[in-house]
Amino acid sequence: MELRKDPITRSWVITGDDVPDNLPRPEPFCRFCPDSREPPQLITSMSGTPGAPWSARAVVHPNALYHIEGEATRRGDGIYDRMRPVGAHEVLVENPSHDRHLWTASDLEIEQFLLLAAQRIQDLKGDGRFKYVGLYKDHGNSAGQEFEHPTSQLTANTFVPRRVLYELRAAREYFQSKERCVFCDIISQEMKQDLRVIELRGDFVAMCPYAPRVPYESWIMPRTHEAAFERFGLNRPGTMRDLGALLRRTLQRIRTITEEFHLVLHTSPNSLHRSGNLGYWKTIDEDYHWHIEIMPVLASKAKSYTFKEVYYSPLSSETAVKRLRDARIEP
Ligand SMILES: [Zn+2]
Ligand SMILES: [Zn+2]
Ligand SMILES: [Zn+2]
Repeated sequence: MELRKDPITRSWVITGDDVPDNLPRPEPFCRFCPDSREPPQLITSMSGTPGAPWSARAVVHPNALYHIEGEATRRGDGIYDRMRPVGAHEVLVENPSHDRHLWTASDLEIEQFLLLAAQRIQDLKGDGRFKYVGLYKDHGNSAGQEFEHPTSQLTANTFVPRRVLYELRAAREYFQSKERCVFCDIISQEMKQDLRVIELRGDFVAMCPYAPRVPYESWIMPRTHEAAFERFGLNRPGTMRDLGALLRRTLQRIRTITEEFHLVLHTSPNSLHRSGNLGYWKTIDEDYHWHIEIMPVLASKAKSYTFKEVYYSPLSSETAVKRLRDARIEP
């Protein structure tokens, strides 16, 4: 596998011929459960909640797309750019129990998972080769779920993923003209209008964005400004409990509509990596604002062409938020 850059959109893709000869056999046991006979390589564990050996843990992805050794060595190929897939690819086991998910676990368990994510991101950002460290979760077959055990995945990359790059450029431009953070401005208008806010909890807001990409798209953001999730989580003890509760409740609401979703955490890129050709490092702490995006998967709505070229969401966020607010969930 290798990384190739699309010279037009400037996005990196990971590609290569990696088709397995025969389909992987379903494993008769779960490798992420505490009693696993073939446990993956452990990176770190969070101390246990009552009755459990650990509460959340990071392991090396058993079929990692990115590998930690070596240099990316960017090379030209005529007008094109390519590099080796150097990076980190970890699985974050959200809970020792096979059936305790981010929407059914206790707030304490979810807090431990969020703190683990913050620690892993901070740790990997100590490696100057990596420009970006991100966390994501795909749940459900059509969302591309990989493991049955409740897990998220974390990658450290030598490039900034496309969507984050768009956000960084746009946030910097907005800041240049207004001297304000666009995310803070969004939050303040949404709070005033109260048309698309799902719920407030502690310092956090869950809302549906003004221009959704899919029906019921939801964002969770801190209401006070902070560019880096990991700095926020590790410096403000207690806040991750509120975030965990809001995440649990928001996922419960979404699951009254569909069980499948993509979730991604967007945080600031690695400031240790001072890239010369990307001018966004100077004001990044002021203009970028970390957040979580949840994209529910509604199979019947996934119209092929239009969906990819122009996002088409046949349900407004104002309507979506009413159903999400009124959904029956646990306290
Ligand atoms: Zn398991
Ligand atoms: Zn902000
Ligand atoms: Zn984002």
